[in-house]
Amino acid sequence: MAILQQLAQALADQTIEIVDLTHTLETRIPVIQLPAEFRQSAPFKIEEISRFDERGPLWYWNNFSCGEHTGTHFDAPIHWITGKDYPDGATDTIAVQKFMAPACVIDVSDRVRDDEDYLLTIADVEQWEAKHGRIPEGSWVLMRTGWSTRQYTDAFLNHKADGGHSPGPDSQLPLWLANERNVIGWGTEPVGTDAGQAHALAKPFPCHHDMHGSNKFGLSSLANLHLLPPTGSVLITPPLKIKQGSGSPCRVLALVEKNARQR
Ligand code: MN
Repeated sequence: MAILQQLAQALADQTIEIVDLTHTLETRIPVIQLPAEFRQSAPFKIEEISRFDERGPLWYWNNFSCGEHTGTHFDAPIHWITGKDYPDGATDTIAVQKFMAPACVIDVSDRVRDDEDYLLTIADVEQWEAKHGRIPEGSWVLMRTGWSTRQYTDAFLNHKADGGHSPGPDSQLPLWLANERNVIGWGTEPVGTDAGQAHALAKPFPCHHDMHGSNKFGLSSLANLHLLPPTGSVLITPPLKIKQGSGSPCRVLALVEKNARQR
């Protein structure tokens, strides 16, 4: 009781701030494009039902539709073939305790500025740990790249003749994070948790393959990672409770102690 009262007080006096890591869902939000032989995810669509008019004089509301993996969103383990059999791996079956967890933020914006296909390595994480300490068990690992500033432009999907180009983890990192650090998941700024060219890696789609294969989660299209400290924030990430959902758009929030923001 005392802890919750302290939390409520800290939120009221903004000793703890709430940072929104979510892009706005609107029709121009970019949706991942797969090679033409595969079925595509539908774009975000919104249609007014009524707005204080003859269709409904006192009320305003909309119908909307989109794919589960649209905008800032949560990837559940059953999204990938390696995680398909986890009974607690769908949006409706994941334990709700897992929707609040601490975050570590690894900033490689400078490297991504020079190389838009930059792949984060185990060595990069170990270098980060030498400065900030070992990644605590059950943490999110968030790759900060500055990519979110490209949102709503062609540079976000960054499609070229050979597909999308965006940063992500290399082939080895996701399994290492799952096994050696027991993280809760991996989060990133581009359209998906894996790099744009991840289909061409020695191990294709390593984040999807190994994170979901280890019953761990993904967050993608995150915004405002520059407002988080390297350690010490807590994320709130509940997806919509879709029956056997593989993921869902998600309002991702971070609790951050005042004056802990990254500069
Ligand atoms: Mn996804």
